[in-house]
Amino acid sequence: MHELSICQSMLEIVDGAMADHPGARLERVFVDVGRGSTVEPSLLRDAFEIATTGGPYEGAELVINEIPLVGKCRSCGRSFEYKEIALGCPDCESTSVEIESGLELNVRELEIDG
Ligand SMILES: [Zn+2]
Repeated sequence: MHELSICQSMLEIVDGAMADHPGARLERVFVDVGRGSTVEPSLLRDAFEIATTGGPYEGAELVINEIPLVGKCRSCGRSFEYKEIALGCPDCESTSVEIESGLELNVRELEIDG
């Protein structure tokens, strides 16, 4: 489950941010997860629970914001949402498509108490 190693990198970011707030308790972690990233949100949630149990962030909630996978055709300029990763533009079938969003995997915000 590679979500566990992703979670550990996320928690390193959290550690860095929490270092500025000694004594504070972590309540929530908000993350952006693109649908085109390789992360399965439910597995990431499970991994977060495993990774935080018994540690200073036990009980914190992981809030996942799923970002649609959006591509933009370089030929006709149309933006469209992918249901899954595919190659061509649905309009002109050009394969020259740029991914506009949906590959994100970011810790966006932390909610802390104290
Ligand atoms: Zn097109």
